[in-house]
Amino acid sequence: MKETLGTTGLILNEPLLWEKGKKGRCGFSLPRRDVESFPLDKELAGEGPEFPDLSEVDVVRHYTRLSQWNFGVDTGMYPLGSCTMKYSPKTNERQASLTGFAGAHPMLPASLSQGTLKMMFELEQYLAEISGMDATTLQPAAGAHGELAGILLIYAFHKSRGAQRSKIIVPDTAHGTNPASVALCGYRPVPVKSNENGILPVEAIARVMDEETAGIMVTNPNTLGLFEENILEIAEIVHSKGGLVYCDGANMNAVMGIVQMGNIGIDVMHLNLHKTFSTPHGGGGPGSGPVCVNNELEPFLPVPRVVEKNGRYLLSEDYPESIGKVQAFHGNVGVMIKAYSYIRSMGPKGLKRASQLAVLNANYIKERLKGTLHLPYDRPCMHECVFSDEHQVADKVTTLDMAKRLMEYGFHPPTVYFPLVVHGAIMVEPTETESKEDIDQFIEAFEAIADEAKENPHRLHKAPKRCKVRRLDEVAAARKPCLAG
Ligand SMILES: *Cc1c(COP(=O)(O)O)cnc(C)c1O
Repeated sequence: MKETLGTTGLILNEPLLWEKGKKGRCGFSLPRRDVESFPLDKELAGEGPEFPDLSEVDVVRHYTRLSQWNFGVDTGMYPLGSCTMKYSPKTNERQASLTGFAGAHPMLPASLSQGTLKMMFELEQYLAEISGMDATTLQPAAGAHGELAGILLIYAFHKSRGAQRSKIIVPDTAHGTNPASVALCGYRPVPVKSNENGILPVEAIARVMDEETAGIMVTNPNTLGLFEENILEIAEIVHSKGGLVYCDGANMNAVMGIVQMGNIGIDVMHLNLHKTFSTPHGGGGPGSGPVCVNNELEPFLPVPRVVEKNGRYLLSEDYPESIGKVQAFHGNVGVMIKAYSYIRSMGPKGLKRASQLAVLNANYIKERLKGTLHLPYDRPCMHECVFSDEHQVADKVTTLDMAKRLMEYGFHPPTVYFPLVVHGAIMVEPTETESKEDIDQFIEAFEAIADEAKENPHRLHKAPKRCKVRRLDEVAAARKPCLAG
C-alpha cells in the first residue's frame, strides 16, 4: 500500500470565536468621521449582541480551519451505500446561482417567473421520461417526504374507489423511512422477508397480498444493491387484488435510462434529486424528492401544478381530486435547477452511461474484495455491494473497527450495519465518478486492514488514532448530547 491519504499532516485546533476575540481588535478600517457623533437611542437599539472583537485574519483562519475538519466528496472518495455520494459537477451550482433564478421571490406572480416555471415544467417531463412514468410533482423536499406524498396518493386512489384499505407490504430490506411513511399515513406495514438471493420471493407476496392491502413498497434496485427480478410477477399479484405498487427510487443511479419503471408495473415512485441528480448532500441542506406517477394517479398529485397554456406557464389549483399541498411555495427550487442543468448537460446517453459506470464500479469492488471480506450474496450487483465482517469475527474485529481504521487510510467509511438483514453489513457504493486508480486504492486499503485484523487486531480496536477525533462513545453521544459546541 502506497503512502496513505489519511490525516497525517497539520490539522489545527480551533477555539470558539468568543474564546479567540480580544477587546479592541478590529477587522476593518473606516475613514475618520467628519460629522458629529450622535448617540443611538438605547431603547431602540437595545444592548446589542456580545460579539467578540476579531481581526480579519482571525476570522479567515477560523472558518478555513473549520472547513478543513470537514470531509466531503470534494476531499475524497465517500462510498456511503444507499446514499449515492457522487461528485456533482460545479457547473450545476453555477446555473442554480444565476441571478434570475436565485433572486426570484416565491411570491412573484407567474407573469414574472416564466423562466422558473418553464424550468419546473420541463424538469417534471424529464423526470417522468427518465423513470418511465407519466407525470411528476416536484413539491416533496426529500426522499422520505416523497414517500409520504406517494402513500397519500395511494390513499386518495383507494378512497376515490370508495373502499379504503388498512395495510401496505414492506420488504425487510427496506430503508427505515418506508415503514415509517406507511404508518404515518395510517396504514399498517406488513413485513416480508427477502429470500436467500436477497430479493423478494413471489410466493411470499402472494401469501400476504389480499383485498385489505393497499399495495406494496419496493425499493428497486433494493438496499442490498440487487435488482428485484420478480418485480413483474409481484406487480401482477398486487394489481390483481386491486393494490398499487410504490417504488422507492432512491437507487435510481443504477438504472437511469435503462429501466422504465412504468413498464415493470410501478404505479408511483419517488426520486432523490440530492442523490442521483447533482445536489451534494449529507450536511442537512435542502433536498428534493419528486414523485412520478402513472396516468391513473395523476389526478391526485399535489397542487398547485405547473401548466402550460399557449406558450405561457402558470400555477393551477384546478385539480379537485388533488391531495392538496405538501410543501411551501414551489418546493426547493435550487435543487431542481441543479437537476435540470445536470440532465440537460448529460443528455440521455450520458445519464445511461453514468448508471452503467456506477454498476461496473460496484461489481469491480465486489469481485476484488470478495475473498477479503465475506460477501453474503455472491451474484451480480447493481450500483452498490454489501459485505460483512464474518471473516474477521474469529479475530474479534468488527465492521465498526474496520470502518474507523479506513479513515486513517483517507477514505470516508462505507455505510455500516445497514441493511439490517446482513449481520455486520458493510455497504459500499463507489458511484460512477470515482476513477479506477482511486477505487484500486480503496480496495488496497481494505486489503491492508484485513491483514491487520489477523496480525494486529488491537490496532483496529483503537482506531482511529491519527484522526482529529478518536473513537467516539456513540451511546453517550446519543443519550447525553452536548449541544453547546
Ligand atoms: C436515502 C433513502 C431514502 C430517504 O431519502 P431522504 O432524502 O434521506 O429522506 C429512502 N429510501 C432509500 C432506499 C434511501 O436510500
